[in-house]
Amino acid sequence: MIETDYLVLGSGIAGLSFALHAAEHGKVVIATKRAAEESNTNYAQGGIAAVLDPADTLAAHIQDTLTVGEGICHPDVVELCIKDGPEAVRELMSRYGARFDLAADGKIDLAREGGHSARRVAHAKDTTGHEIERALLEAARQNPNITLLADHMAVDLLQLAKYGGPDACFGAYVLDRATSEVETYVARATVLATGGAGKVYLYTTNPDVASADGVAMAYRAGAAISNMEFIQFHPTCLYHPQAKSFLISEALRGEGGVLKLRSGETFMERYHAMKSLAPRDVVARAIDSELKRTGDDCAFLDMTHLDPAFLVERFPAIHARCMSFGIDMRTMQIPIVPAAHYSCGGVITDDLGRTNVRNLYAVGEVAMTGLHGACRLASNSLLEGCVFGRRAAADVKGIQSLRPSQVAPWYAGAATPSEEAVVITQNWDEVRRLMWNYVGIVRTDKRLERARRRIELIRSEIREYYWNFRVTGDLLELRNLALVAHLIIECARRRKESRGLHFNADYPMKDEKFAKDTILRRGDGPEPA
Ligand SMILES: Cc1cc2nc3c(=O)[nH]c(=O)nc-3n(C[C@H](O)[C@H](O)[C@H](O)COP(=O)(O)OP(=O)(O)OC[C@H]3O[C@@H](n4cnc5c(N)ncnc54)[C@H](O)[C@@H]3O)c2cc1C
Repeated sequence: MIETDYLVLGSGIAGLSFALHAAEHGKVVIATKRAAEESNTNYAQGGIAAVLDPADTLAAHIQDTLTVGEGICHPDVVELCIKDGPEAVRELMSRYGARFDLAADGKIDLAREGGHSARRVAHAKDTTGHEIERALLEAARQNPNITLLADHMAVDLLQLAKYGGPDACFGAYVLDRATSEVETYVARATVLATGGAGKVYLYTTNPDVASADGVAMAYRAGAAISNMEFIQFHPTCLYHPQAKSFLISEALRGEGGVLKLRSGETFMERYHAMKSLAPRDVVARAIDSELKRTGDDCAFLDMTHLDPAFLVERFPAIHARCMSFGIDMRTMQIPIVPAAHYSCGGVITDDLGRTNVRNLYAVGEVAMTGLHGACRLASNSLLEGCVFGRRAAADVKGIQSLRPSQVAPWYAGAATPSEEAVVITQNWDEVRRLMWNYVGIVRTDKRLERARRRIELIRSEIREYYWNFRVTGDLLELRNLALVAHLIIECARRRKESRGLHFNADYPMKDEKFAKDTILRRGDGPEPA
C-alpha cells in the first residue's frame, strides 16, 4: 500500500495545475496511464482563452460563454472562471515558462476563434497544448514533492462506503502496466483529472487515452454525473484514410478559412450569420447535413486565398501534417469531416472541484462545473483545467483523511489471463460504431432506443468477461467506455428537446422545461457495475 497526501489521476493541464499548487502544502502522487505527456492537452492546437487585451472586457468573455452555452451555464461559475483567466494564463508563462507567441509590440499575440466577439486566444503557433504540457511537466518533474508515475492506470476508487462508512473516497486501485499488478494508493484527497470521452465514438480528435475512465470510476463510486448528452463534434478533422484523429484547428477559420462543398459552393451562409466562424455545433450539423444531402464523403476548408507565407508561419504543424498526406493548403483545399472532440458533461463539482463524494475532486474535462452549459466556447477548456486545478489545490489544504483502519488489497480472484482478446476488440468496435451511428451529431428517439438496447447487451457480456478474467488496460477501458456510452445515451434520452450540442430531430426546438442540467446518480441511472 502506498500512502500520500494527494493522489492525482491524470497528467494533462488540470492534473498538473492541481499537482503543482498542491505540492506547496503536501506530497503528491500523479498516476497517469500512458506516457506522461499523452493527453488531450498535448494535442490542443488553437489556444487558451482569457481577457488579455485592454480593449477586450471580462463582461464580453462572460457573455460569449453564456451565449454559446445556450441557457444552462452556471453564471456564477462562468464569472469566476473568466475572472481568474488572465492570471492563470500569465502564471503559465511567468511561473512555468510556457512560451506563447508574442506580437511585434511584445504583448501576447491573440487569435480569434468561433463564438468569440474579440481576439482573446493566447497560443503557441498551432501547438499550444504541447507547449503548455511541456512547461507543466518540466515543472512537475523538478518538484521534490511530486512523484510522477507513467503507465499507471487507475482501476477504481477506494470507497469508504464499502467499509460501512459514508460516501467518501480515500484513494484508488492502480494498475502498474509494467508488472500487470494492481496496487493500492491511499490519499487524503483523490483528484480525477482523467480528461475526456472521445474514444466512445468511432471518429474522434482525441488520443487513445480519452476513454472516459474518470466519469466511469466516479459513477461507480456514487458521484453524480451530469450533461453527458452534450458531446462536442469538432467540425473539421482531416479526412484522409491514413490520418488518425488529426484536427484542423478552428484558428484556420479565425484567420479567414472558408468552408466549401466538393462542388466549390459555399454553404455556411445558409446556416448562420457568422458563416464559417459560426459556433462549432452549428458548423458540425451543417456539414453533417450537407454531406447527407450531397452523398459526399467530406467537405473542404479553403485557405488558398490567404498569404501562403503567413499560412506556413502561423500553422507550421498543420501545414507539415497536411503535406505528409500530399495536401498543400497554400494551393489545395483541405478535406475535412466532423469528429467527436469534447465532453461538456462529466462529474458534477462545485466551484472548488469538490464532488458529492467526500475527499473526491474532479478537475478539467472530466468535470461538469457549469462553465460550458450546452456547448463549450472554443478555448475555454484549457482555461477551465488550469483555473479549477488551482482552486481545488487551495481547497485540499488541511483536508482530513477519511479511511478505514485496515485497507483491503485488490482481489484478483481466480481470474486467469484472458486468451479471448477478440471479445474486447469486437465489443470495443461495436460500442464506438453504435455511438457514432445512433448517438452522434443528429439523434432521434428511435436511434437512442436502439442504442440503449444494444449497450445493455454489450455491457452484460463485458460484465461477465470482467469478473472471469484478469484485468488488462484494454479490458478496463472497454468497461469504462461502455458504461459512459450508456450514461450518454441515458442523458440524451432524458433531454426531449434540442439545445446546444444535443440535437434530436424528433424535438428540433429548445424547450424551456429542459433549461437545466441532466443529472444521473447510482440508483437513478444505468447499472454502475
Ligand atoms: C485535438 C484537440 C485540440 C484541442 N484544442 C483545444 C484548444 O485549442 N483550446 C482548448 O481550450 N481546448 C482544446 N481542446 C480540449 C482540451 O485539450 C482538453 O479539454 C483539455 O486539455 C483537457 O485537459 P485535462 O487535463 O482535463 O485532460 P487531458 O489533458 O486529456 O489529460 C487526461 C490525463 O488523464 C490520464 N488518464 C486517463 N484515464 C486514466 C486512468 N484511468 N488512470 C490514470 N490516468 C488516466 C491521461 O493519460 C491523461 O494524462 C482540444 C482537444 C483536442 C483533442
